[in-house]
Amino acid sequence: MAHRRFALFVGPLLATLIFAVIAIGVFVGADRFIRDAQWVAHSNAVIAQVDGVEALLRDAESSQRGYLLTGRVQSLVDYQRGRDALPLRMADLKRMTADNPVQRQRARELERLIAARLVQMEHTLRVNERDGLSAARAAIDQNVHATSNAIRALTTAMNDAERDLLDVRAETRRESAQWLRGLAIAGIPFGLLVVGLVFASLRRENRARTHAERETAHSNDRLQATVAELERQGGDLRALGTFGSMLQSCMAQEEALQLAARVMARIAPGSSGVVYRMRASQDHAEDAIRWGEQADGLPGMLPPEDCWALRRGQPHVVRIGDMACAHVGDAPASGDTTVCIPLIAQGTQLGLLHFTWTDDGARDVLPLAESASEQLAMALSSLELQERLHFHSIRDALTGLYNRRYLEESLARELARCARRRLPLGLMMFDVDHFKRFNDTQGHVGGDALLAAMGRLLRDSSRPEDIACRYGGEEFTLIMPETPPDAVLARAEAIRAAVRAMRVTHEGKALPDVTVSIGVAMFPDDGSAPDALLRLADAALYRAKREGRDRVVAAGAGHD
Ligand code: GH3
Ligand code: MG
Ligand code: MG
Repeated sequence: MAHRRFALFVGPLLATLIFAVIAIGVFVGADRFIRDAQWVAHSNAVIAQVDGVEALLRDAESSQRGYLLTGRVQSLVDYQRGRDALPLRMADLKRMTADNPVQRQRARELERLIAARLVQMEHTLRVNERDGLSAARAAIDQNVHATSNAIRALTTAMNDAERDLLDVRAETRRESAQWLRGLAIAGIPFGLLVVGLVFASLRRENRARTHAERETAHSNDRLQATVAELERQGGDLRALGTFGSMLQSCMAQEEALQLAARVMARIAPGSSGVVYRMRASQDHAEDAIRWGEQADGLPGMLPPEDCWALRRGQPHVVRIGDMACAHVGDAPASGDTTVCIPLIAQGTQLGLLHFTWTDDGARDVLPLAESASEQLAMALSSLELQERLHFHSIRDALTGLYNRRYLEESLARELARCARRRLPLGLMMFDVDHFKRFNDTQGHVGGDALLAAMGRLLRDSSRPEDIACRYGGEEFTLIMPETPPDAVLARAEAIRAAVRAMRVTHEGKALPDVTVSIGVAMFPDDGSAPDALLRLADAALYRAKREGRDRVVAAGAGHD
């Protein structure tokens, strides 16, 4: 700022002032010099004039004296010419000394003396004419010498005064010259110095401005980069927000995992990764979903001790030269970053988010990934809880089979579906024979063990699309959608035989063998309403009991 003021205002003003002073000094000095020169010429002229007057007077005197001695007419003529010229010369001298009162006074005095001298000379000549030379000589009195002396003294004084003036003017001229030289020696370099300073300041100012412009351009670039970064972050945050709200609407963990893979590909472009889920036993983390081109190379299962993030319960980021997890294998190639973030919800480790991406330094993915992991962990935890609640609400705890409520729901649904697609459906109802007796001999706990084994057997002997339920007590049902009657009967027969062949041990001892009676009803042959079909299957079961147990009876077999 100070440079700028000096360069633009103070400096140029000072330089202008200095050169103006020099110019005025030079002008004044030169003027004084000229005036001094004029005065010198004037003084010389005055001296010459005084000398001239003196010489003229001397000539007139010697011509007058010559005439007196020789009587030569020429001498008289010379005298007369000098006598006539003297008043004119004196008039000139008076004019020339008009500026100097002292000298003018002297000039007047000189005029008077010269006039007196001329009167004396005229008187002598007249005496000479009248009385001869001797009388004339006698007429020259003492006054003549006094007048001549006074004239000489006066001319000497005048000339001395002019010479004194000459000396004074020589002195002032020298002073003027010194002054001018001083100005030239000091003023001009000083002026040049100021100009130089102005120039330097201008240069510095210019440089500062260039620098400032560069700075401005630089900060503009930075600003633009920041705006771009903010926009990108805004996009990322929006993606995270959408991810969060979609997670809340997820029905199953699988859905949540798929969303997570998609959001990770969005916030860490070009990344590859895996979400691992902790097994119930907590001894291994198992891959649940993968994304990215390099995801295939990542292990499908890893023990928790292979991962620093799982061991420490906090994110582990590995860049070149850092300590990589054992499950990552080789340390990352230059520029690559591997990240492991534990999925923790309510203090429980649910798994691990692991990914690798090439960090271009443009964005800090870690906070976003951590936030996504946190949301995913929360969602997985609550979905798991929901699934568990749902499982328990539709399952029977002892046998692991679906419960009666679920049976009724699914029977209606499956019947409607098969009706729409014109496909058959089979329904079986089982009842363990003489189970009261079994309970009595083996105890209730033994009876439970047998029921659990029945549940396993039914689960194992049913297809994925079949629905096996515990209807209540020691009664079970099996829904077989899309299955024709003969296949249903064959399966019922097979199950009956399998129960017969089943060996159950409880607390180290073998339980007695049991048999089962099975009633079967078919859709659409026997009916189409769920209740009606259940009733028909139950009736068939009742017939099987009546007919001796350990058998399969179909509702449409014609018995009553
Ligand atoms: P049937 O051959 O005619 O079916 O003879 P049953 O003795 O099996 O007769 P019923 O079906 O009427 O008897 C059902 C018995 O099953 C009554 C009860 O003691 C027993 N039971 C019902 N639920 C359970 C259970 O959850 N655990 C055990 N241990 N026993 C059960
Ligand atoms: Mg019963
Ligand atoms: Mg029974």
